[in-house]
Amino acid sequence: MSILENREKLFSNPNFLDWKFQLQNRIRANDLEKFFNLSENEKIAIKNSIRLNIGSTPYYLSLSDPFDEHCPIRKTIVPNIGETIFSKEESKDPLHEERLSVVKGLTRMYDDRVLLFSNQDCSVFCRHCMRGRKVSYNDQRMETNDLENVFDYLKQHPEISDVVISGGDPLNLSDSKFEFILKNLNEIESVKICRIGTRNLVTLPMRITDEVCRIIEKYNNNNLSIFCNTHFNHEKECTELSKKAILKLIKAGVSVGNQTVILKGINDSGEKMLSLHKKLLEQRVRAYYMYDPELIPGSKDFRVPLAKGFEIIEYMRGKISGMGIPHFVNDLPGGGGKITLTPEWYLGFHRETRSHVFLSALRGTYHLSPEVEGSEYDLKYKEIPNSLWEKIRLNFKTAHVA
Ligand code: SF4
Repeated sequence: MSILENREKLFSNPNFLDWKFQLQNRIRANDLEKFFNLSENEKIAIKNSIRLNIGSTPYYLSLSDPFDEHCPIRKTIVPNIGETIFSKEESKDPLHEERLSVVKGLTRMYDDRVLLFSNQDCSVFCRHCMRGRKVSYNDQRMETNDLENVFDYLKQHPEISDVVISGGDPLNLSDSKFEFILKNLNEIESVKICRIGTRNLVTLPMRITDEVCRIIEKYNNNNLSIFCNTHFNHEKECTELSKKAILKLIKAGVSVGNQTVILKGINDSGEKMLSLHKKLLEQRVRAYYMYDPELIPGSKDFRVPLAKGFEIIEYMRGKISGMGIPHFVNDLPGGGGKITLTPEWYLGFHRETRSHVFLSALRGTYHLSPEVEGSEYDLKYKEIPNSLWEKIRLNFKTAHVA
């Protein structure tokens, strides 16, 4: 059968909208040639990838282009040639999540927040996954007793109030296992916030069933507030089905935010990020983070210069409301935690006139704002260099004052 016939047969299956059918019929490495006209580079990468296993739901595959190697969805499913090279600056665990693990499956980078690795499975094994050292490998499964050890640790550390459940995808667990986790978190008095990290809104939206919503609603109560962070990277991922899934979660009282990663050839331009975030707002998803890509093995073909992130944020500012502009963040290599990075819109402080100098993101013009009278913070501000002050003064004379 031809590639198009194979696709047609799979996508017209009467069970296509059933999430269990989707997981049971995931496309694996050996199936890719049935659904894509693979290039020589892709064939080599499939054979020699040093990254996580290959897998995609039929639904996510249906969003991809079988003939265009540059299709953003295809690049998420099919390995690229960069995946075969472990570059010297890369590391299996750049964020030191294992070093910072306090019990199996629990990473503690901050005093009050932890990351619970609930599950090694995902609906799609994204080629850019930063946790590719664990995800897709069955020996990384979290057993019930591992989860019980996590809950014991949380009980012994009441200073921890916020638990991110991620992995892997917690919504790839069975309903009963997912409920087991929420029930236990809900019973720990000191845990107030639970953030579910799931990409199933993108890759398996039919997983947001009435039953999943019922479970979430049950534990989204006075003791525990449940949030959801998802991971859309490209406008093509925003479909009617994903919108329906998001609205179901919102009806269950969960607000949904998006974390995207800047990926070369997928979304590394202001225009692409703007279209994505406009579409997300239409789907009622607020922007949360935009990550600088991690230094994980085989990621060289996805990584972009740091300046790209500034360029994207500069481009977006003024073209979409603040709800649609993500924080540009770098999760620091070596386990330093996240930092936010912003373009240089605050240029500095002119001590003599006690003025702060700003650059308008919208118009590219200089703007002054006086420091509060009597403030003792003057020495805390970076001083604006004289040469720049002179330029600004001249600019003001011609552009605003004259
Ligand atoms: S869904 Fe998330 S955790 Fe799973 S493979 Fe994709 S990026 Fe990694």
